[in-house]
Amino acid sequence: MIDLISDTVTLPTPEMRKAMAKAEVGDSQHGEDPTVNRLQDAVCALLGKDSSLFLPSATMANEIAFKVHTRPGDEIIMDWLSHALHFEGGAPALLSGATIYPIHGERGVFTEEDVLAAIRPDDPHFPRTRLVSVENTHNLGGGTIWPLGKLMAVSDIARRFGLGVHMDGSRLMNAAVASGISAREYSYPVDSVTLCFSKGLGAPVGAVLAGNKEFVKEARRCQQVFGGAMRQAGIIAAGALYALQHNVDRLAEDHANARLLAERLADEEGIDVNPADVETNMVFFHVDGTGMTAQEFTDRLKDYGVRMGYYSGERVRAVTHLDVSRADILEAARAVHQMLVDARLGSRA
Ligand SMILES: *Cc1c(COP(=O)(O)O)cnc(C)c1O
Repeated sequence: MIDLISDTVTLPTPEMRKAMAKAEVGDSQHGEDPTVNRLQDAVCALLGKDSSLFLPSATMANEIAFKVHTRPGDEIIMDWLSHALHFEGGAPALLSGATIYPIHGERGVFTEEDVLAAIRPDDPHFPRTRLVSVENTHNLGGGTIWPLGKLMAVSDIARRFGLGVHMDGSRLMNAAVASGISAREYSYPVDSVTLCFSKGLGAPVGAVLAGNKEFVKEARRCQQVFGGAMRQAGIIAAGALYALQHNVDRLAEDHANARLLAERLADEEGIDVNPADVETNMVFFHVDGTGMTAQEFTDRLKDYGVRMGYYSGERVRAVTHLDVSRADILEAARAVHQMLVDARLGSRA
């Protein structure tokens, strides 16, 4: 099976497992795990932040950030397609008592004018706007990269109104590699950053939340409260550290593979995709022209050895990652072609 369902399916390589097996460990709840500490230091250097915290997941990193930035009843501005709005189980409401103001951005990216229009007046009828959250790259937006200028403009307006700015940079390294803008430059305009190691970076577990000392001190308290404080976590931190050292530059291959897949799919009758929209490792395309729903399309494609995901009635997503090669992508494109030919003939493989 060529698995393009997500970049979360990547498996730790033998070299990564070796690094994990050899990791020096201690009680990280007491700051005594040398590998966790090394990872946190490496992330601070990478992002240009004072402090960072190794956590079990990017969901927890985002939710801790929201908890630290907001008080119950506060409102968070984010794009309407954000991960934190759709895929974190309603946690901003459940864990922080925060409401969300969804901006209808352009492929997950919004402007300072959008933020200005979303900020509530100081009036007891309204929730209190407290935080702006951006997602970079933006998953449902299409693996979209935030232009640095737009991020800085959004951050400027947020600062002017005394709002915090959080960046869900679960795939920040994809944005950095594809744009040539460093993770540090992207992190400068924001107060807190989530980075995920278990997506395209290929580690089995882990994420990090970074910010200034005061922010991370509070975040550490939430980590304890949410049950995310770990013990000999160096074993998994070693996988994350290995990923940062070995799997960042190669993300460019995933991006090239995604573009190649989009170009091949664009040749297929009934598939609507614009290869120019593919900025990183995600290919979103519409299949209504094939006469199939997205679910029918992905179900049938499985019989041809390729797994993709569907996100609405007619929208399919394919994600490239370190466990799929250029040859796999060419094979996946051939499989789609054959499936469509067979479907048109009314037969099934
Ligand atoms: C996957 C993802 C998360 C959550 O990551 P987990 O480590 O699976 O909890 C958060 N934000 C975005 C944009 C993601 O893609």
